[in-house]
Amino acid sequence: MKIRDILNCKEVTVSYEVFPPKKDVPFEPIIEAVDRLCQSKPDFMSVTYGAGGGVGHNTIKIAEHVQNDLNVTSLAHLTCISSTKQQVADTIEEIKAAGIENILALRGDIPEGCNPLKSDYKYASELVTEIKKHGDFCIGAACYPEGHIECTSKESDITYLKQKVESGVDFLTTQMFFDNNVLYNYLYRIRERGITVPVIAGIMPVTNGKQIARICQLSGTYLPTRFKAILDKFGDNPSAMKQAGIAYATDQIIDLIANGVKGIHIYTMNKPDVAESIRSNLSYILGEKK
Ligand code: FAD
Repeated sequence: MKIRDILNCKEVTVSYEVFPPKKDVPFEPIIEAVDRLCQSKPDFMSVTYGAGGGVGHNTIKIAEHVQNDLNVTSLAHLTCISSTKQQVADTIEEIKAAGIENILALRGDIPEGCNPLKSDYKYASELVTEIKKHGDFCIGAACYPEGHIECTSKESDITYLKQKVESGVDFLTTQMFFDNNVLYNYLYRIRERGITVPVIAGIMPVTNGKQIARICQLSGTYLPTRFKAILDKFGDNPSAMKQAGIAYATDQIIDLIANGVKGIHIYTMNKPDVAESIRSNLSYILGEKK
C-alpha cells in the first residue's frame, strides 16, 4: 500500500524505523527484531540506507521481508550522493521488482573526501525527480525542524524544502527533536510558506545517554533543560536511562497527538522492547484498547 493513502485514511499513524546490519554483521538478529516489531502492527516500517558499497541490497532485502512476509507496508530509504545515475536507476528498479511502493528519497551525508560538485547528484530533490521517472512510487523526504546542519539559514532551508516537495514529494519525516515546541513552530513556518504535504514527527526514544549527547552535537539538535537533567541523572545507569527514555518519548508523543500531529515515526534503533513499551503506554490513546 502507498503511505500517502495510509496517511489519508487514518486519524493517527504510528510507524517504525529500523536499520540494516553493517557489512559482515549477521543478518538473523535484525530479522528477529523486525519480526517482533511487526507484531505490534506499525502502519509502516522504514528501513534506512547505509553508507558504503553493497549495503543498499540489505535495505531492500529487509524492506521486502517486511512487506511480503510480514504484511506490513515498507518504506525503503535511498541515498544518492555517493552513487552514479546508473547505480541509482538500478537500485530503484530493484526496489520496484521487490514490490516496494514507497521510497524515502535522501541525499545522504557527504562522505569525507567526496566533492559533491562532482557527484551525479547534489540534492535529494534530484533523486525525487529520478524516482518519478521509474513509476508511480509514493515518495517521502526528510525535513529538519531545527534546520539542516549545513544550511546557511533556516529560511533558506525551508525554501529548498519547498523546491524538494514540489519536485514530487508526498510526505515528509522530521529529524528527531526533543522539544515539541520546536516542531510546532516549524510546522507553522512551513505551512505559511505553502508546504502542505503531511509531516510525520520522528521520535527518538533515548536509551543511551552518552550516544545521544554526541548525536545531538553532530546534528545540532536542541536538548531542553528537562531532557538534559534526565541525561545527567540517569545517563550512567542503562536500565534507569531506558525507563526514562521510554517515558520521555511517550510524553512527547501524547503531547503531539493532543496537539493534532497525525503521524508518529519511532526511531526504534532495532529495539523491539522499547517500541513495545511505548505502544503499550499509548494503547488507549491510539484506540487499541477501549
Ligand atoms: P537535501 O534535501 O538535499 O538537503 C541537504 C542540504 O542541502 C540542506 O542543507 C538543504 O538546505 C540544502 N539544499 C537543498 N537543495 C538545495 C539547493 N537547490 N541549493 C542549495 N542548497 C540546497 N542518511 C542516510 O545515509 N541513510 C538514511 O537512511 C537516512 N535516513 C534519514 C531519515 C530521516 C527521516 C532523516 C531526517 C535523515 C535521514 N538521513 C539518512 C540523513 C540524511 O541523509 C542527511 O541529513 C543528509 O545530510 C541530508 O539529506 P537530505 O535528503 O535531507 O538532503
